[in-house]
Amino acid sequence: MGIIEKMRLDGKKGFVTGGARGIGKSTAAAFAEAGADVAIVDIDICEAKKTAEEISAGTGRKVIAVECDCTVPEQVDRMTAVVVSELGGLDFCHNNAGICINAPAEEMTFEQWYKVININLNGIFLTDIAAGKYMLAHGGGSIINTASMSGHIVNVPQPQCAYNASKAGVIQLTKSLAIEWARRNVRVNSISPGYIGTELTLNSDSLKPLISKWNEMAPLGRLGKPEELQSICVYLAGDTSTFTTGADFIVDGAFTCF
Ligand code: NDP
Repeated sequence: MGIIEKMRLDGKKGFVTGGARGIGKSTAAAFAEAGADVAIVDIDICEAKKTAEEISAGTGRKVIAVECDCTVPEQVDRMTAVVVSELGGLDFCHNNAGICINAPAEEMTFEQWYKVININLNGIFLTDIAAGKYMLAHGGGSIINTASMSGHIVNVPQPQCAYNASKAGVIQLTKSLAIEWARRNVRVNSISPGYIGTELTLNSDSLKPLISKWNEMAPLGRLGKPEELQSICVYLAGDTSTFTTGADFIVDGAFTCF
C-alpha cells in the first residue's frame, strides 16, 4: 500500500469540538474526505447541524452533530457516549473549541480571565480525558489539541494574557498526557496555528482592525487559511503517525521564527 493510501482514515471514527465553523469545520471536512465518520461537536447546535449536513453531502460519510458545552463535565461525558454509540467507536478526536478575549491585564476582570481559561484549557482537559478514557479501554487512539502560536510567543500589539496562558497550558497538557498514555497506545499531539482567517479573527471587533498590522509582521504577508491545517490533522489522526506523540506542530508561516 502506498503512503497516500496508508494516510487514509477509512473505517475510523472521530469527533471535532468547535467543529461547526472555522478551523474545526475545516478539519472535520478533511477527516470525512479521508474516509472517517465524524461528529461535529459544538455549543451552537444549529450551525453544527448545517455543517454536518454539508460535509456529509460533500463526502458521503456519516457526519452527525452533537451539542456540547465543552466546559461542562456532564455534557462532555454525554457527548462522548453519544459519539461512541452513534458512530460505533472513537479512534481520534480534534479538541479545538476555543475563544479569545483581549484586555490589558490590569483591566481584565476575573470573569474574562476565567472564561478564556475555562473554554481553552479546562475544556480541552475535559474532552481529552473523556476521549482518552474510552481509547485506553478500547485499544488506543489519537487525540489532537488546538493550541496556538500564542502558547509560544506573546502576540503584539493586542493584550491577551489569558489566551496566551491558556494556550501554553494546552501545549504542556498535551505533552503530559502523551507521556502518561504512551505505552497504552493513546497518542496526544497539538497544533499551534498562527493567525488564521476565521470568524474569530475576521469578524471580531477587537481583532479585525489588527489584521493589516499582523500581515505587515507576517513573513508570508497574509493570514493562514483553515484548509492549511487539514493535512497535519489528517496525518495525526491516522496510522502513519504512530511514532508521533507529545509533539506540538507550529503552523504559522514562520511568524514565530523571529
Ligand atoms: P471560531 O470562533 O471560528 O470557531 C470556534 C467554534 O467553537 C465556534 O463554533 C464556537 O461556537 C465553538 N465554541 C465556543 N465555545 C465552545 C464551548 N464551550 N463548547 C463547544 N464549542 C464551543 O474559532 P477558530 O476556528 O478560529 O478557532 C478554533 C481554535 O483554534 C480555537 O481554539 C482558537 O483559539 C484556535 N486558534 C485560532 C487561530 C485563529 O487565528 N483563528 C489561531 C490559533 C489558534 P460559538 O459560535 O457559539 O461561539
